[in-house]
Amino acid sequence: MSFFDNRIYREASHDNGFSGNNIDRQSEQRPDNCLDAALANPAARIYLFSGDRPLLADDGGTQSPLFTQSAARGREANEASLILLGFEGGEPRLAAQAAIREEDQQDDDPIRAVDLRALAVQGLVAPNHLGAIAQARSLLHWHANHRFCARCGAESRMVGGGIKRHCPACEKEHFPRVDPVSIMLAIDGDNCVLGRSPHFLPGMYSCLAGFIEQGETIEDAVRREVQEEAGIMIGRVAYHSSQPWPFPSSLMIGCHAEAVSTEIAPDEDELEDCRWFSRDEVRLMLAGNHPDGLITPPRMAIANRIISAYAEAD
Ligand SMILES: [Zn+2]
Repeated sequence: MSFFDNRIYREASHDNGFSGNNIDRQSEQRPDNCLDAALANPAARIYLFSGDRPLLADDGGTQSPLFTQSAARGREANEASLILLGFEGGEPRLAAQAAIREEDQQDDDPIRAVDLRALAVQGLVAPNHLGAIAQARSLLHWHANHRFCARCGAESRMVGGGIKRHCPACEKEHFPRVDPVSIMLAIDGDNCVLGRSPHFLPGMYSCLAGFIEQGETIEDAVRREVQEEAGIMIGRVAYHSSQPWPFPSSLMIGCHAEAVSTEIAPDEDELEDCRWFSRDEVRLMLAGNHPDGLITPPRMAIANRIISAYAEAD
């Protein structure tokens, strides 16, 4: 008899975009020469980025985000940005910035830079690549934006193939961070709360969300966010799933939240609209059949999965 046998145990996170990362990071085994050793392996492959946009090569109809070292050199990969993500099936997986400028790209170029959200929404690459690309994008961004020691201001250097940075002046080590965000669906029986930010696509409504603050549990953050953004009081909070969100380095933590009050007072600084939706209306939105053309975020987004789990529940 296992401890887990008495629990409903299904990882809903597997259905969220950017999950499915198979890379073995080997974080505890990162000698100083691990980048050189990885590059000496002819099976090494590199995820390349132009700014925030991953590069895809059209490989005779299939889209590949992995480049050989010679292909990376052909794209002027920036060696100083090179990081070791880890190993997949024993083969090194790395990431680097490429120097190409999109305005220099030719129409017939088989390699193109794509928007990372579009990559996930359109399913252009296999799920395991999406997870690795999320890891790569977050790490490249962190190194590019943490070049100097936050304690003493001296220039720090990347060590362990990018697993951390070290300050040679004060010996402080700096580790890449992940920023937890709570995202939640407030529910009162057959009704739930959805809101709309001004930057959303026309007609789109989604879950409320916000960064978890210092000294807060996930549940406390859910209760605070719903109260701040919608004026609704929350009782019980149930975890649903999580999603790496590489814009640049968030972890979305999705929950269902039990409303114990119903009067809405939207935060007009953050939300263009916020209101109760019936479960039937939400079902129409998910199916793309809403009479007013209202929609939810796409299926790869954790918000869609949280809303669907409620809409599909008995
Ligand atoms: Zn320092």
